[in-house]
Parts: sequence; C-alpha cells; structure tokens
Amino acid sequence: MGRESPTENFFKSVVSWLIFAALTDAIFKTGFWFTVLILAGISLLLVGLALAYSRFAQFLMRRKRCPHGIRRGKDGGCEICFGVEELRQEESKAYQALQQRLREIKEKATALRASELHSLRKHWLGKSETYLQMDPRQFENAVAALFR
Ligand SMILES: [Zn+2]
Repeated sequence: MGRESPTENFFKSVVSWLIFAALTDAIFKTGFWFTVLILAGISLLLVGLALAYSRFAQFLMRRKRCPHGIRRGKDGGCEICFGVEELRQEESKAYQALQQRLREIKEKATALRASELHSLRKHWLGKSETYLQMDPRQFENAVAALFR
C-alpha cells in the first residue's frame, strides 16, 4: 500500500460525501440533489466560520495592548516591544547558527576519527612483528581486516 494521492483522497471524500447525502435524502426525503446542495452549503459555511474565527482571533491578538499600553506594539508601534522582538529574532538566529556550527564540527570529528582509525589500523597491521604479539583471536581479526 503506497501513499494515497490527493486526487484519490479527493475522490474518496466526494464518494463518501455523496453516500452521506443519499442516506440523508433517504431519511429526510428532501430530494437527493437538494440534499447535496444543502450539505455543500453547510460545509462551506463551517469552513468560512472557522476561517473568520481564526482571523478574528489573530486580529484581537495583534490589537491587544502591550505591557507599555500601546496597541499593535510588536508591529513597530511600541519601541520597546519592537526592540525586544528584534532581539529575540537575532538570538534565535544566533542559536541556529551555533547549532549548525556544532553539527558541522561533529561531522568533521566523525570523519576524522574514521580516517585516523583507518590509517592507524593500516600502520599497525603493516608491521609483521605485531602479528606475533597477538592472541589467536586478534590474529584472526587482523587477517580478516587485511582483506576488508
Ligand atoms: Zn510595548
């Protein structure tokens, strides 16, 4: 089962919606297409209401007075709030840059460790006398490493 495409999803929701309309029609005897129309109207109304509500909530949030008694302070109306907001954004940028730098250092360290280990192993396995100092298990691993 792969992911469903948007078209598939849309088709499925339309079909289930039509079935729902048919059921509603069977129960309330309102006529199939009339029911479809009414349901479409109700859904549109609900979507519109939700949109309007979120817009209104945003509007209220922005209109709220800041601690210094100024409306829309964060939008530049209040110098202090504007400065604080700018500072906050700068700090978050600096933090992200730091995280990025740490990630790069970690990656480099991992790569360096791998390459150093590789050259150390090569160097160590290149000397024949080291093989004589190994116990059988180490010797076996070392020989296997040679052919890796
Ligand atoms: Zn303010």
